[in-house]
Formats: sequence, structure tokens, C-alpha cells
Amino acid sequence: MNTSDSASQALLDHLNILRDAGVCYIALDGETTQIETLYGQGEFDSTIAEPGPPVSATLTSATHSAIQRTSDKATPPVPRKDALPASALSLPDQEVKLPAKKNAAHKDTPPMPFDPEEKMTLEALSGAVAGCTRCQLGHSRTNLVFGVGNPNADLVFVGEAPGRDEDSQGIPFVGRAGQMLTRMIENVIEIPRSEVYICNVLKCRPPKNRNPEASEIDCCEPYLHKQIEIINPRIIVALGKFAAQFLFATDTPIGKLRGKFGRYRGITTLATYHPAYLLRNSSQKRVVMDDLLKMKAVLDGAEPKIEILT
Ligand code: URA
Repeated sequence: MNTSDSASQALLDHLNILRDAGVCYIALDGETTQIETLYGQGEFDSTIAEPGPPVSATLTSATHSAIQRTSDKATPPVPRKDALPASALSLPDQEVKLPAKKNAAHKDTPPMPFDPEEKMTLEALSGAVAGCTRCQLGHSRTNLVFGVGNPNADLVFVGEAPGRDEDSQGIPFVGRAGQMLTRMIENVIEIPRSEVYICNVLKCRPPKNRNPEASEIDCCEPYLHKQIEIINPRIIVALGKFAAQFLFATDTPIGKLRGKFGRYRGITTLATYHPAYLLRNSSQKRVVMDDLLKMKAVLDGAEPKIEILT
């Protein structure tokens, strides 16, 4: 085995140890790299031989929570040796370069503005993230759109990202899609809009309403996680493809998710079409009404049929 091979093996063994200990992410000079992805896509093998800058594997508090979030997922099979060399317990001394995660947040990304482990109110969380510039959207937005409604709501609606009206007012779902959502809540579920909580996966408007990018989602997702943790609703309604695929961590098309219940971090979650879609396709209002009435029955005590298992 030459020097490069043995260093490569030591690094692989070391990452196996971390993975076995439940670590799914490591922070590399401020960037987060997902170990599962490196293994799962076979990228690891092809890159460890390349020389590069030193790697410092440190666990930040954000990383710590990311580890907790992913540690209960099934671990992908990783080919490994029965006996680990002593070198597996030490960091490799060979300079190695791990591939940056595609679209990963920039290495100058400002730190998380709150401690994910800390108990806090929604108001405190809102204040903490108000000046967020962790991704590029923080520089182009007019207002950050945190969320609106009852902090003790039983029901939370999650959309995709603020549009132009929301960006200018700092409140989610206030444009035409918002008016449709209000009708869905007040006329179909028959509760005042002020009784529920409404927010989006992304807190800042993507320019020209383009689709959210992976790095923007990475930066924003701890905010939604914490919001949901604080509110602890009984039911979440995912509005549209983006929110549904995000909450269920799946690529399944919205047409297959719509009308079905799954769970997001243990909370019963229903996927339905986005109100903006209903503005363009009024023939789909009927199925959304049926979805909402099914959800209302669960809110009133019926047992949900969980069909989305992710
Ligand atoms: N669409 C969304 O997904 N969210 C909003 O807040 C407004 C429109």
C-alpha cells in the first residue's frame, strides 16, 4: 500500500467511525458536508486521493442538531472492514480535500442566529432571525417574512416562499394566493385565519419568484424546524409541491402526495395543492375542499390514515 492509499484508508476508517457514532454531517471550514451523501453516491472514493487543504472536522451547535435530526434515519450500507486500525481513531495527517456539497452554503455564511437546543418563544425566534443574511436572499429581500398567526395554533399551514406582496409587507400569504388561502381556512375549515399559524419554508423572497435553491433551503430550514417545535401543532398542512416534498423529504410528485397524510417530525401532516394553483385551475378546488374537510375531521378527533411513509 503506498502513502496515498494508506492515508485514504485511514480517512475512510475515520469517517466510518464517525458515521457509526451517528454523525451524518461534518463542518469543513464553515461548510457542512453530509457523510451519508459522500458514501451513498460513491463520491468519496473518487476524491480522497486528491491533495487539497487540511480538513478540520469540528461539530458546531448547528451541526449537532443536524446530527440529531438525521441520526434516526436508516444508515446506508457502507462497505467496511471487520477490524479497524488504531489510526482510525485519529484524524488523518494527509492533506485531503472532500468535495463541497452541491449548492452548499458559502463558507462565509454567517452563523445561526440562535441556539437550536435553546428553549425560546416564537417572538424571540422571530427577533433572532429578523436580520438574517445567511443566504443571498437576505440581501435582495425587502422584508423577512417569518410567519403570522396564533403561536399556540393546532393547525399550521406551510407554503413555499414569500411572493412580491409578502416581501413588501413582511406577512405571508397576503396577495391573491393569500386571499384564496383565507377562503380555504374561513369558508371550508370554518375557523378564523387568526386562529391558525401560517409560514413558509423560505423566509425571504427568491427574486422574480424563481424556485428556491438548495443552499437557500439549507440556510432556512432550521427556522421552520424551530417554529414548528415551538408551536407544536396537532396538524400541519403542506401547501403545494415544494412544501410537501420538503416536509416529507421526498421527490414524489404533488399529484401523488395530495390528499394524503404523513408525518413531519412526528406531527400529522397533510399535503394539498397550493392556493396559487387553485387560482389557475379552479376545477381543482373541489379536491382541495375534500382534503381540507378530511383534515378537519382529524382536527375534530378522527384517526388519520397515514399513507406517506418517509
Ligand atoms: N406563496 C407562498 O408559498 N407563500 C406566500 O407567502 C405567498 C405565496
